[in-house]
Amino acid sequence: MRKKIVAGNWKMNKTLPEAIELVENILKANTSAEVYKIFIPPFPFIYPVSKAIEKTASHFFVGAQNLHDKESGAFTGETSLAALKSVGATYVLVGHSERRSYFNESAEFLKNKINTCIAGNITPIYCFGEMLAEREANKHFEIIEQQLNESVFHLSAEDIVKLVLAYEPVWAIGTGKTASPQQAQEVHQFIRTCLEKKYNKQIADSISILYGGSCNAQNAKELFSMPDIDGGLIGGASLKAEDFVTIINSFS
Ligand code: PEP
Repeated sequence: MRKKIVAGNWKMNKTLPEAIELVENILKANTSAEVYKIFIPPFPFIYPVSKAIEKTASHFFVGAQNLHDKESGAFTGETSLAALKSVGATYVLVGHSERRSYFNESAEFLKNKINTCIAGNITPIYCFGEMLAEREANKHFEIIEQQLNESVFHLSAEDIVKLVLAYEPVWAIGTGKTASPQQAQEVHQFIRTCLEKKYNKQIADSISILYGGSCNAQNAKELFSMPDIDGGLIGGASLKAEDFVTIINSFS
């Protein structure tokens, strides 16, 4: 049985009081206990959010939006894995398209970050997906396989299963333009085929693959009903308690 996961990437939004209010409102609501729910706030809120969820028994976690691959040292403005773990983070995004494009994060750097996560025992959520021009040129499958090969397929069979994958077509992120459930399913199925080719069917069937890109309270149910979609990485819609709760409860 694959884990069902809904992760909220808050990006660079909210102040501390707003962050706590959002978390408290979500904790108060009725949310499906079997779904893994991950808050991914800006760095300063990781610790207070981890404190806020401490007493809930119902699969709530906190994650980080980024980490550095090095253990420690003179990297001003960066955050290490040890620092993240010490404030309660158990997940971290690696390879978000905004990091790839605005901060020029290379495939090699992402590979190193993945290795750091695996060695340090924090779960990476590896984000990848094609740009609009690549989809229009019908190159999306090629790009997706390449992004898997470059940054995660060096892992052993024992380690690859420690990852969560998030397919995020760049043209759908923050644009209000969602991949249709059929488009998303087609890619998720392809990702599972790549996993099976590289590893084996058992591994391919055990890794959770999330969809991200304008997933919201209206379209989550249809997306999550697809056989290879195991949940969502949610940006904009994770900033409102009511919407996030609806998304969490969108699995049939
Ligand atoms: C994201 O940032 O990963 C994302 C999917 O954003 P949005 O839901 O706003 O498109």
